[in-house]
Amino acid sequence: MRLIAYIILIFLLYKIIKHYLSSEKRIKNTYSNDTQIGGEEMILDEICQTYFPKGSALRVKNRGIVHYFCSEGCREKYLTSHRS
Ligand SMILES: [Zn+2]
Repeated sequence: MRLIAYIILIFLLYKIIKHYLSSEKRIKNTYSNDTQIGGEEMILDEICQTYFPKGSALRVKNRGIVHYFCSEGCREKYLTSHRS
C-alpha cells in the first residue's frame, strides 16, 4: 500500500509542475503570436516560410517589430528587400 501512496504523490507533483510550466508559457504567449510545437517555441521565417526554434533565430528589429530568421542568408534577403 505504501507504493500506491508514493505513486499518487509523484503524480500530484507531476501535475503541479506541469501546471506551473504551462501557465508560464501562457504568460509568454500573450506577448507574441508565436507557435509552439512539442514544447519548444517555434517561429516562422518570413523569407523561406519555414518554422524553426526561436532559440536559434537571428533577429532584426524594424519599426519596433522584431523579425526572426533561420539563417544569415534569410536575414540578408530581408534586409536587402526592406532597405529604405
Ligand atoms: Zn530562412
